[in-house]
Amino acid sequence: MRIGVPTEVKDHEYRVALTPAGVDTLVRHGHEVTVQAGAGLGAGITDADYLDAGADIAAEAASVWGDAEMILKVKEPVPAEFGYLREGLLLFTYLHLAADRALTEALLAKRVTAVAYETVATDDGGLPLLAPMSEIAGRLGAQVGADALLAPGGGSGVLLGGAAGVRRGNVVVLGGGTAGLAAARVAAGMGADVTVMDVNPVRMRQIDELTGGTVRTRFSTPLDVAGAVADADLVIGAVLVPGSRTPRLITHAMVQAMRPGSVLVDIAIDQGGCFEDSHVTTHSEPTYEVDGKIFYAVGNMPGAVSYTSTYALTNATLPYAVALADNGWRDACRQRSDLARGLATHAGALYTDGVGQALDLDV
Ligand code: NAD
Repeated sequence: MRIGVPTEVKDHEYRVALTPAGVDTLVRHGHEVTVQAGAGLGAGITDADYLDAGADIAAEAASVWGDAEMILKVKEPVPAEFGYLREGLLLFTYLHLAADRALTEALLAKRVTAVAYETVATDDGGLPLLAPMSEIAGRLGAQVGADALLAPGGGSGVLLGGAAGVRRGNVVVLGGGTAGLAAARVAAGMGADVTVMDVNPVRMRQIDELTGGTVRTRFSTPLDVAGAVADADLVIGAVLVPGSRTPRLITHAMVQAMRPGSVLVDIAIDQGGCFEDSHVTTHSEPTYEVDGKIFYAVGNMPGAVSYTSTYALTNATLPYAVALADNGWRDACRQRSDLARGLATHAGALYTDGVGQALDLDV
């Protein structure tokens, strides 16, 4: 199969969909890979690295898209890329169609076969192509939160690890899933007092065991969340209710009750956010202030750690990309139920229930 890897064009997206090791694997399987010149630079990968691994380099996006049977990307195509969509093209990338009517309609009108990373799901409900990014967003969430607490940027001046004779920073993490646990572990590693609040007792027991008691767990009710947040220096929102908009667990009144310069990091902003005062921000201007509290709500956090994210993402996507390339999408989806769940569009039809409900389209 001829596989194309274009340069990502979305604002501040530095990741690339394939590493040299991925190129090497696909070439060993008998496929041809063309990478757009400079596509890997944001992740520290040069054109020479790709050439050495067996890829061709094409100067223009148009030839990468035009010659490929399958396009591997990181982010969903933006309107400037819609002109490359065509019947017979297999597109394997993050799509997030429920929030993007224009792209959904373009994929349907151009009859593209699109498989979305975020809906590839194992039989037990695991999301193997989302989990690595949640892990990274969680770890980064603690790091950016600690940074936003610094006084020169308007933070309260609390050091998460405290100092001898001085209290540690108090961190509350809402949602103890992949992102929440990763955030809690990093915050605890920085020496903070960390509490994870969740509604799933089984998950809280796991967190208790996994962290050896260094992270506290508490059941998440509106009353307990309000109490915990009022005394927090840093709140990290990492709640997910699959298939639904994120519940707004922290109201404006709760934010008003926090100490000045406290920080709220809304990792769940890509699903609508779990704080009432959240609105999506970008890496160029990641924070804003509400009532003297600092909010961070970047929708594509992993993009900022493009080296780590590129390798973590491609480690997860490569086996699926190989299956699609070796067998074609139809047989690959017949053989792998996890991959079949990722099918979003084909020949003008929509295959994802949640997208149909969100956009009021037939599935
Ligand atoms: P997950 O499913 O692993 O964890 C979500 C957790 O939230 C679960 O443990 C669940 O029990 C808990 N939860 C549900 N309702 C709750 C409530 N009312 N109170 C407390 N906890 C509750 O999800 P995840 O993979 O960790 O992802 C978390 C969020 O991070 C998602 O919205 C995801 O899209 C987002 N995310 C954002 C970025 C970014 O760049 N901003 C990157 C990756 C992931």
